[in-house]
Amino acid sequence: MRCGNFVMNQILEAYKPMWSLNHVIALMGWDFETHMPSKGTEERGVADSQLHLLHKDLLLGSDFVGLVESAKKLEGLNDLEKGIVRVLNREITKQLKIPKELTEAESLERIRGNMTWRMAREKSDFMMYKPHLEKMIEIKKQIAEKIGYEKHPYDALLDSFEEELTVDELDNVFGDLTPHLQKIIKKLVDTGSPFLKESKLAKSNYDIQRVDELNHDILTLLQYDMKRFRMDVSTHPFTETMSINDVRITTRYEGIDFKKSISSTIHEAGHALYDLQCDQSLSMTPLQGGSSLALHESQSRFWENIVGRSLPFVQLIAPLIRKQVTFANRATDDELFLYFNNINADYIRVDADEVTYNLHIALRYEIEKKIFGDELSVSEIPEFWNDRMEQLLGVRPNKDSQGVLQDTHWSSGLFGYFPTYTLGNLVSALIVSKMRKDLKDYEVEIRRGNFKPIREWLRLKVHRYGSVYAPKALLNKTLNEGYNPDYFVTYIETKYLAS
Ligand code: MG
Repeated sequence: MRCGNFVMNQILEAYKPMWSLNHVIALMGWDFETHMPSKGTEERGVADSQLHLLHKDLLLGSDFVGLVESAKKLEGLNDLEKGIVRVLNREITKQLKIPKELTEAESLERIRGNMTWRMAREKSDFMMYKPHLEKMIEIKKQIAEKIGYEKHPYDALLDSFEEELTVDELDNVFGDLTPHLQKIIKKLVDTGSPFLKESKLAKSNYDIQRVDELNHDILTLLQYDMKRFRMDVSTHPFTETMSINDVRITTRYEGIDFKKSISSTIHEAGHALYDLQCDQSLSMTPLQGGSSLALHESQSRFWENIVGRSLPFVQLIAPLIRKQVTFANRATDDELFLYFNNINADYIRVDADEVTYNLHIALRYEIEKKIFGDELSVSEIPEFWNDRMEQLLGVRPNKDSQGVLQDTHWSSGLFGYFPTYTLGNLVSALIVSKMRKDLKDYEVEIRRGNFKPIREWLRLKVHRYGSVYAPKALLNKTLNEGYNPDYFVTYIETKYLAS
């Protein structure tokens, strides 16, 4: 891309080495999870941190900061140029505010804490992990103070994952969403909903090679261009973007409950499509890729849940399933639909269905807010977790591995990250509501396997902009809405209670 402005062109030229470092860091990250021999870990760790330091030196170099500073004073910039200045300025400001000692302390604690957390989870022993959690929280509290905030210290951490996100806003979201979801679950239980009955399809072992073929068949149906995209296998599925023309996903094969593998594939493919459909002119600029974590998650959730678990989609892929999964060869479309949409209020977030999932996030949000508001000490967390889980989902974990120790996020210093999952779910429902108004044959096209209109709608309304606009500005501009829970509640009620 070239800008009409001399300073902006200089910025883009100076940014290229940073983009290249990001490119190679992403490639190394992908390799680490998929193909690297296990003994390569230590040297890879050194290479990775050295490249990050190099990136930071370039970003905070006086020449580059000077260019961005002078661009901030320019008038008459177009939206694209304003986007570049906004994104770079955010990154520079954040890096400048956090002293080197704190960054180092955090990355050291991340490695130690994460290792201890793994062992503690295995032994289900919170006390073993507790000193590390305390240390990490202490570091994050200091970081929040350095970054600064208007009202709540947690705001500083939220904003680093989702631009301009605040406690006030999330209090509104969860204050509205949580009671609605609890009411829906109660109704499902009271009426003995068929969605609550566990399918026998979840309990048989499948042939991994054949489900791998099935996943590839589904990607073909969804029209992924294998010249710009690929899929590998890892324990925890992820998407890694090297460039607009090289986006990679992974999926998982546990050998049992095949819907998990299919859902992971479609979820990650949804993330990938966001980056694949970013406008090519944004390639190698700071604007390449999605606007935020929540918007990225809205894309993965849209494909995984709203399309992937819909009746027309299940009907579309049913023949492929019957072909590759031998024990499902007589399952009817309706049985498969209920299997994909089984609801189960349980302890573990990553296994949660689309109705109960956001209650898991509500719990984590409450705890994080209390931690950073100095209302909850680390010793009190496990008990608080279990009490609230019982109130929200009606189940009480009887060991820490089912409760407070289940997620990796805190040990990696990711405080403020969880709420973006719920915001992503809300936006996915907002999207389908708006999309249905434009695409009258939305369901018919899915049943036919014609995903072009849906992909094109997403490209025009979301994907092509990359991060030209901050998430809220983009939602406002193209969907005329914010993080409004109404659409999600209506979507869930219509799907699970109307039938
Ligand atoms: Mg995701």
